[in-house]
Amino acid sequence: MEHNEENCIFCKIIKGDIPKEFLYEDEHTVAFLDIKPVNPGHTLVIPKKHFVNIFEAPEETWLHIMRTVKKVSHAIKDGLGIENVNLEMNNGSIAGQEVFHAHMHIVPRNEHDGLKHWPGGKYTGDEETQILERIKKAL
Ligand code: 5GP
Ligand code: ZN
Repeated sequence: MEHNEENCIFCKIIKGDIPKEFLYEDEHTVAFLDIKPVNPGHTLVIPKKHFVNIFEAPEETWLHIMRTVKKVSHAIKDGLGIENVNLEMNNGSIAGQEVFHAHMHIVPRNEHDGLKHWPGGKYTGDEETQILERIKKAL
């Protein structure tokens, strides 16, 4: 199925077609609780305008998302007494993106929630230098 504004669940939430209480709203962004929280308080921050992910969102929109992420992270910390959060954004289906309207997860963490970091690999030979050069060249 093609992903666009018409069949986008988050656009429906923004328009009020699917009722959902926002915990924060400003001109450019909204934040609301994830329907399947990793931990209580798991929040999604999304732009009001439909963009698929980081690659589609203009820089200005990205900065608006980040400002709201910062604001809401502090509210989660102070309001829930939580000192640790993960910020996560899945960009593309291979990266785990299931809703194709850009969103940043704010996941409150506690010591015994059992979540694990991804495993670390290692570079071999001149791979690190080559990778570095390819990214630098594209900047
Ligand atoms: P993704 O894998 O795309 O990064 O994450 C999508 C997230 O959106 C999931 O954590 C999922 O629980 C959440 N989600 C999907 N549909 C809804 C919905 O209708 N309402 C809310 N509040 N969250 C949703
Ligand atoms: Zn959308």
